[in-house]
Amino acid sequence: QIFDTLASTGHEQVLFCQDPGAGYRAILAIHSTVLGPAIGGTRVLRYADEAQALDDALRLSAGMTYKNALAGMPAGGGKAVILLGDAPPDREALFRAHGRFIERLGGTFITGEDVGTSPADMEFIRRETRHVKGLPDGMGDPSPWTARGVFQAMRAAAHWRWGSADLAGKRVALQGCGHVGAPLARALSEAGARLVVADVDAARAEVVARETGAEVTTPASIARVSADIFAPCALGAVLDDASIPDLQVEVVVGAANNQLRAPRHADALAARGILYIPDYMANAGGVLSGGVDLFDWPRSEMQRRVDGIHDTVLAILESAVSEGILPSVAADRIAERRIEEGRQRRSAP
Ligand code: NAD
Repeated sequence: QIFDTLASTGHEQVLFCQDPGAGYRAILAIHSTVLGPAIGGTRVLRYADEAQALDDALRLSAGMTYKNALAGMPAGGGKAVILLGDAPPDREALFRAHGRFIERLGGTFITGEDVGTSPADMEFIRRETRHVKGLPDGMGDPSPWTARGVFQAMRAAAHWRWGSADLAGKRVALQGCGHVGAPLARALSEAGARLVVADVDAARAEVVARETGAEVTTPASIARVSADIFAPCALGAVLDDASIPDLQVEVVVGAANNQLRAPRHADALAARGILYIPDYMANAGGVLSGGVDLFDWPRSEMQRRVDGIHDTVLAILESAVSEGILPSVAADRIAERRIEEGRQRRSAP
């Protein structure tokens, strides 16, 4: 029923790509090019099955359309997922194969890093196409900028919830100590927050704990820690029927994409009185950092936009209150309005 699915998600194009010699199987999902080229990272994972990979690609690419629109980027949304097999891949062969497929799209899709990829992988892609960002000689890894934006979103949430953006003394439960989680932990520690961290890779949690003095807990219990803020910075769909009743925080704000398993989980959080900052609003810093390479923004302009996530969050929270809707709905409406305006501009004679 793939076309029914695409009709409901509004995707423009989905490609299934393979290069057996390179051990490469991928799904490239282009959700929208209304506001500009579809921009979105490449995720490399071992999926349980193909349906799960497709679901991830569709959800993530639609999320990128909304994120880019809300961030004010002249860009649409897309995402690629590479399905890992049992054997460890030859990364050069894998990412060069990926680059060849991206090249065929002629700039309709521009990729960068995501879970499971690094700047070195982006270099392999570049050998086949220029439609890639996040390279070592460009802006490099976007993750520190994502972390900076999440930090700003957290300050805004604190201001909204507790009347001050100061995070000193606030207890933050951080799930995932990876490319975003680790620099976010450092920023929080510098701001005087108290941290509890967890990672399925225990060594990563230990490194962060050594650097920041964080307490370490198990991945199974991090979402149940009693704290002021829960910061999901691992994988998506962590906010669901099972986890929400157990949360012991007042605010949820983090970097992970698609934190809500389903839109209705935003209502479940609100019903518990938990302030949830929509993920794609909080984690737009990485995408904004791409503006330097993609749109020749001066670095200062990019930084201003990343730090502006603080004000964007507050504006959306205010509009949610005045319209009597959830922040996630307010954010979606702003993004949808911008996309619709773009569509009208495009179809204008
Ligand atoms: P990463 O792979 O570097 O880090 C994720 C970390 O989470 C890893 O250390 C992993 O071991 C850990 N992890 C996985 N499952 C876990 C679990 N159940 N409990 C605890 N830890 C777990 O990825 P990243 O680049 O830091 O991205 C983190 C999240 O933020 C992802 O959802 C990603 O899509 C999203 N995101 C990242 C960026 C970026 O710039 N990197 C931008 C926007 C959104």
